[in-house]
Amino acid sequence: MKHFPIFVALEGRRVVLSGGGEAALAKLRLLLKTEANLTVFSSDPATEIENWANEGRLRLVRRAMEPGDATCAVLFYAADEDDAEDARTSAIARADGAMVNIVDNLGDSEFITPAIVDRDPVTVAIGTEGAAPVLARAIKSDLEARLPATLGPLARIGKAFRKAVDVLPMGRKRRDFWSEYYFNAGPRAMDQGGEEAVQDALPALLDKHQHAQERDGHVAFVGAGPGDPELLTLKARKALDTADVVIHDRLVTKDILELARREAILINAGKEGFGPSMSQDDINALIIEHAQTGAQVVRLKGGDPTVFGRLDEEIEAVMAAGIGWHVVPGITAASASVASLGQSLTKRGRNSSVRLVTGHDMKGYADHDWASLARPGEVAAVYMGKKSARFIQGRLLMYGADRTTPVSIIENASRPDQRILATTLSGLVNDLDASDLNGPALMLIGLAPRAAEAAFSDIQQEFA
Ligand code: SAH
Repeated sequence: MKHFPIFVALEGRRVVLSGGGEAALAKLRLLLKTEANLTVFSSDPATEIENWANEGRLRLVRRAMEPGDATCAVLFYAADEDDAEDARTSAIARADGAMVNIVDNLGDSEFITPAIVDRDPVTVAIGTEGAAPVLARAIKSDLEARLPATLGPLARIGKAFRKAVDVLPMGRKRRDFWSEYYFNAGPRAMDQGGEEAVQDALPALLDKHQHAQERDGHVAFVGAGPGDPELLTLKARKALDTADVVIHDRLVTKDILELARREAILINAGKEGFGPSMSQDDINALIIEHAQTGAQVVRLKGGDPTVFGRLDEEIEAVMAAGIGWHVVPGITAASASVASLGQSLTKRGRNSSVRLVTGHDMKGYADHDWASLARPGEVAAVYMGKKSARFIQGRLLMYGADRTTPVSIIENASRPDQRILATTLSGLVNDLDASDLNGPALMLIGLAPRAAEAAFSDIQQEFA
């Protein structure tokens, strides 16, 4: 992040702008939304600027800037659309101690003005470090469509009511009140009777929350998918949006954790390889302990919680404690991996069933129906299979599998650092040894990446 976003208090502070044309107008339209003391220097100002000056909304000085003109200014905009003049005026402003923005000159500016979605007092600032103004505009219009125009008045009324809400204890109770106000009671009252109805509804809403029974804790077992945040389900997003506590495993990426509600407590209950760093009993106890305080707990598991996720043990523990729960499925690593190969898990005439198998189980290497797995055309997705590759290779060959059976290993499926190792059953162990795969990896026996087609040109067959 080269530019750190902040909101500058401009009420009563001095902001100076040099310029009188289009660029100046664009900046002034934004600045006029603030309560800054605006001074514009221009020997040839546009009519709008003259009008604003006549209305007393800014001070217009009809000459070029001179040293001392930006004294005490917090911000200065060089908007003459002339490189030499902009360099001259910004040097003056800098010497006078103002922070300088030169319109359309990112490199020489000390700050930049973001694209703004204005739902005053809610303001969204969008910046792309100057890289993609088109993108900023697209995000802006997207947000404008999404944030109702009534958000501004709701926030203003809400702000005036903040003191009254101090009667609720800090934390969840207060959050529940505000979330009902902004997302439910507030918009409803606004629809029915405008701002007045919103104002009338607030005391009753507060009363209701003051006398509300403690909410029961609840546990959502949520699939976080393979890593790409866009592969989260809407239900998973919603659960993260409202979570008080998120207990996640090691597979859950940083990008996904960022989506959790800002006040949520994040707990890493990750297990490493064979040796658990937190025992399953400890994890169960942790989930229950939080839910018993009335928290909305999200137990966030990589992929789909129903696939090699020890879900049943956690559900049983939660049920035994009398706590409510539900499951939100996710995209499992096998689905994400075949998608990356451009293949499907089942195919008419090739395999009518597919096995999800684990490379290791409680006793070490997991045993399977090797005879069936060794048959031509079979497809198996091996989870946690890296360490047991030699064992799996040995068993399959022993049961007569073809040495040239394709095997693909997908590391970090769906993530920016995804890699695909395309090999065969006989080459599996050597190729894996020669690779430096260290992220989560799924082994697909019986599938190769679909032959290079345009759509898959971005697949890196690093070890093919
Ligand atoms: N519930 C998870 C699986 C948990 S077991 C799911 O549905 O995907 C952990 C194993 O899943 C890892 O050892 C690896 O084999 C596989 N895995 C999980 N995420 C993966 C990813 N993004 N890319 C490749 N393999 C992944």
